[in-house]
Amino acid sequence: MANISNPDLPSEAISRLLALIGQPARIQILFAIGEQEACVCHLEAVLEMRQASISQHLMVLRKANLVTSYRDGRNIFYRLTQPGVLTLLQQAAQLVGIQPEALRRLALRPVEGCPCPQCNPGMDPQLTCQKARSKSKNIS
Ligand SMILES: [Zn+2]
Repeated sequence: MANISNPDLPSEAISRLLALIGQPARIQILFAIGEQEACVCHLEAVLEMRQASISQHLMVLRKANLVTSYRDGRNIFYRLTQPGVLTLLQQAAQLVGIQPEALRRLALRPVEGCPCPQCNPGMDPQLTCQKARSKSKNIS
């Protein structure tokens, strides 16, 4: 993975950054953690994608130093390292005529059916994320 802050041609450096964040799933992730950190199971609930795919995208974004993670108990939370990325995406959204309210959905908390500790502040920490998720899947 190329370092996006490598000093080479400005156009190439910008191109690499845009290509890196240009995938729909990564854009969704960046909006979802733009204002508040989130754990993988929260991203799973928001993106409606499998955890393995989300983890792959997070790994790419982390290698590019766009997101960072920290552990809190048994959950790993991700957040933006550079808030400018969110501004960039918001401006891109504006350019293509997307209303800010349409983007709010990605940052909205709590997410219905999400088992993460942020969406369920009162829940037993042992039940959040993986355990709660497999439980709710069995019920529905
Ligand atoms: Zn959540």
